[in-house]
Order: sequence, then C-alpha cells, then structure tokens
Amino acid sequence: MRLFTTIAGLRCHLERHRTQKTVGLVPTMGALHPGHLSLIERARRENAIVIVSIFVNPLQFGLGEDLQQYPRQLEQDQRFCKQAGVDVIFAPTVVELYGDDPSDSEPPTEFTQVQPPEAMNSILCGHSRPGHFQGVATVVTKLLNLVQPDRAYFGQKDAQQLAIIRRLVADLNLPVTIVSCPIARESSGLAYSSRNQYLTPEQKAQAPILYKGLQNAQNVFKTGERDRTSLIAAVTSELTSVKEIQVEYIELVHPTTLTPLEQVEDEGLLAIAARLGSTRLIDNILLRNRQPIIAIDGPAGAGKSTVTRLVAQQLGLMYLDTGAMYRAVTWRVLQAGIDLTDEPAIAELVSQCQISLISSGSQPQTLRVWIDGKEVTQAIRSLEVTANVSFVAAIPAVRHELVKQQQRLASKGGVVAEGRDIGTHVFPDAELKIFLTASVQERARRRLQDLKDQDQGTVSLEQLEQDIQLRDQRDSTRALAPLRQAADAIEINTDGLTIPEVTARIISLYHKKALSLPQE
Ligand code: AMP
Repeated sequence: MRLFTTIAGLRCHLERHRTQKTVGLVPTMGALHPGHLSLIERARRENAIVIVSIFVNPLQFGLGEDLQQYPRQLEQDQRFCKQAGVDVIFAPTVVELYGDDPSDSEPPTEFTQVQPPEAMNSILCGHSRPGHFQGVATVVTKLLNLVQPDRAYFGQKDAQQLAIIRRLVADLNLPVTIVSCPIARESSGLAYSSRNQYLTPEQKAQAPILYKGLQNAQNVFKTGERDRTSLIAAVTSELTSVKEIQVEYIELVHPTTLTPLEQVEDEGLLAIAARLGSTRLIDNILLRNRQPIIAIDGPAGAGKSTVTRLVAQQLGLMYLDTGAMYRAVTWRVLQAGIDLTDEPAIAELVSQCQISLISSGSQPQTLRVWIDGKEVTQAIRSLEVTANVSFVAAIPAVRHELVKQQQRLASKGGVVAEGRDIGTHVFPDAELKIFLTASVQERARRRLQDLKDQDQGTVSLEQLEQDIQLRDQRDSTRALAPLRQAADAIEINTDGLTIPEVTARIISLYHKKALSLPQE
C-alpha cells in the first residue's frame, strides 16, 4: 500500500499503474470505522485499484463547528487501510488542496466553489450548516478530478450528501459512477460515525434511540401509513424516552430530489439530526413503497434463465428479459443500417431509443417487446439478430443506456431479472439476490445431456469442462459487466437439485422477504 500527501505523487502513481484498470475512490475524512470499511470492501470487490482519500475538509465546517477537534489519526487509519486491502491512501494537506494558505486548518478565503442547487442545499442539515454542502461539493469535485475514478463510493448514512453528489455528477457530466452503500450500524443500532468518539459511555447508551425512532416509523409504514405527520410522530414518540436528546429536525423528503413530502408515493427518506450534549448525530431510513425485485446472477449454465422464467410465472411477477432488450437494440441498429463497428453512431441511436416490455394481462411473464413504437417480439428472434446481439451488447454505451432503462422499468418493483451483474450493478438494492451456481462438472454433464438430446453429442465431457472453466474465467474478469456475487446474495448450488426444487427454494425465500416488506 502507498501513501501520498501530494497531488504530484498521486498523479505519477496513477499514470504508472492504472493502465486499463478500474479505479474505485472512497472519499473520507479519516478516523476510519466499520462504516468506512463497508465502502472500502465494496470498492475492493468492484475495482482493480482502490484509493481512499483522507482529508478533513475545512471548507465544509462552519464557524463554531468541530474542525479543530475532529479526530485525526493517520497512522491508525493506515493500518486499517492496509488490512482492508487498500492500494493507495491520498491524504493531502489543506495547503496542497487549496493553495498557499499558511495555516493548516483555516478554510481558504478565496477559492472557486461548487454550489449545489438551493433546494437541495438549504433543507435538512443545510438549515443549520450553511455552506456545508458547497464545501462538500467542492472537495468531491476536486477529488474526482484528481483521481478520475471509474466509481466513487458514498454512504447512505449521509443521505443528503449522497443526493447532492449524484446531482452534481449528473449536472456537470462528470464521468464517474456514484455507488451508494447501506448504513453500517453497531449491534445497538447506532450508525457508525467518527463523531461517536465524542460520546460519553452514558450518551453512547442513549444514542441508539435515533434508530429506534426511525424503526418505529418504518413499522408504522409497513402497516400502510404513508402520511408525513404520522410517520414523523412515530419517530418523535420514541425519542421522548431520552430527555437529553435535542432534536434539530425530523424530515420526510424524496431521497433523490430532497423535496419535502406530504405522502410517500414511491419512496421516502426519513431523516433525523439531533444533539446529545454537544455531539451532533444524524441518521435516516429509506421507506420504500414498491414490490420486491429479485435479482438472479450466476455463471453460464447454472440454469438461470429457466429458473428465472419459472419464478416469474409462479409468483406472477414480470420477467425482465434483459436479453430481449439487447436484441431489440440490435434489431434497431441493423434496421437503421448502421455499421456494427461504428460505436459512436450506435451510442447516439441507443441513447434516443425507447424500449417497452409489455406483459400480456393474465400472463405477466409473457412479454411483448416494442422499440420506438414498433412491436419486435418476433423480429428480435431472427438469425441475423441472434448472430449480432453479443457484439452489440458488448458496446459500453449500449449497456449503459440499457441498464438505465432496466432500472426505470423496474422502478415500481415486482420484477425478476437474471444475468451476471444484476444484483451488483443493475439492481444493487434488490430485495432478494440469488447467486445460482453449479460445479463445473455438473454444468458440463447438463450441457452434454442437452447436446445428446439434440443429437449433437460428439464433444467429450472433459472438453466441455475445460470450455466451461475458460468461460467462467473470462466472465469473471471481463471489463464490462463481469460476473460477481453480491455480498448480500444468497448462494444456491444447484448440484443435485432439480429445476422445480431450485424454483421452490427461491419462491420460499421471496415469501420470507415479502413478509418483512411494507404491505399495501
Ligand atoms: P466521513 O469520513 O464521515 O466523511 O465519511 C466518509 C464516507 O463514509 C461517506 O460517504 C459516509 O457517508 C460514509 N459513512 C460514514 N459512516 C457510515 C456508516 N455508518 N455506514 C455507511 N457509510 C458510512
């Protein structure tokens, strides 16, 4: 692991080491804890190079806030990062990032800053921390420009920050994917925070009440309550048991736009800020009003597509046939007469096309496919489309656009989808993630049986095993949509199981999950 405190060192390292490799950035202010670790671990799984920045950013602290007092423990953080498999720590000084200010802790007076939209800036924590999100947006923009990561990781713990950064990246067209990670909590329910160090043992015992309040609201939400006043009252009623808590706000907003909500339609963010003594704590919970999403990933030949269709059929959910979407785009490209090697032209076309998957009434798993107002359900099964679809699907711009459309199609939930990275990339917040595997031997045996059934059984079992091993290796290391198991996926090894058995197991997991979700 390398530590750099200067931009020059960081740049030089990246120039030498990043060739073609994916880079994940985890921006932090240090005093690392298990919350940070969850971001680092996710970044480790998804990138070849992981960079953690450690910088207590004076621009985001207001007058009278804890800038001087904020814990700084670089040596301990270095050990933490080394253990977590971090490749590079970037820990610049204030002078290095903001110029020639001689003191190492005063905010710079003259500096170009990034101003988030006022509506997002002034609500929630923005009320009591004017200038805070401007400071955050400025430093994050700088870090993204310096590191130029493929992905940057942020915690849902700072939900307002996350929403503002997503908006910043969209508004300024920054070429990075923002990945959000769930809140990591102590067993008491208290969200990990560097500021928890300020709490006395007594306050530490009281602090989990914030999460208890939010959970209380979530339970009320599960009974069908959608109204702002009632949901906020559910938090407040819990908080009365700790009289030392001074609430700054409890708010219900939309998690993407941060607009205050009177009612939760699709989703709501219930957020709280409160003081215990002089320590300011924040926490939040997402209230989702949608049907579950089932994401099924796994290596080729594990039986994903058969099982996914059956699961959709038996649960009456929509089978989000991502393959059909790639076929539809391929059909559209061929129909437009675009040369398949002209990626910019394909990118332009696909970014403007509209795909609809329409399930036919009583049979939601039977889809009709439309693209740009034309039904192509049959046409996408032609030999020409079949011959070209894998080529078109391997174009990053095509994939990028279709992932967006898949997320839009599933925004109300109630879908099952299968692939290689559905649970890690397309629907990282799917309620149920399954990783369907089978041993190489089992998959080779099944493949041989298929070939025999089709009277094509001339290949040996050994040859099939080798082919499958090679394909696994290729699928796991490919740059675009690599095969990965999500940390929260349930693995089902299908060796020795029949298709109905696997399907039944997934359906039973779904029912268990559905019981713990909001009921209509
Ligand atoms: P900070 O060092 O407090 O600026 O946090 C750095 C990153 O870690 C931010 O994206 C935070 O949202 C994230 N983070 C902090 N605490 C947690 C937590 N308990 N769970 C998940 N992410 C967290």
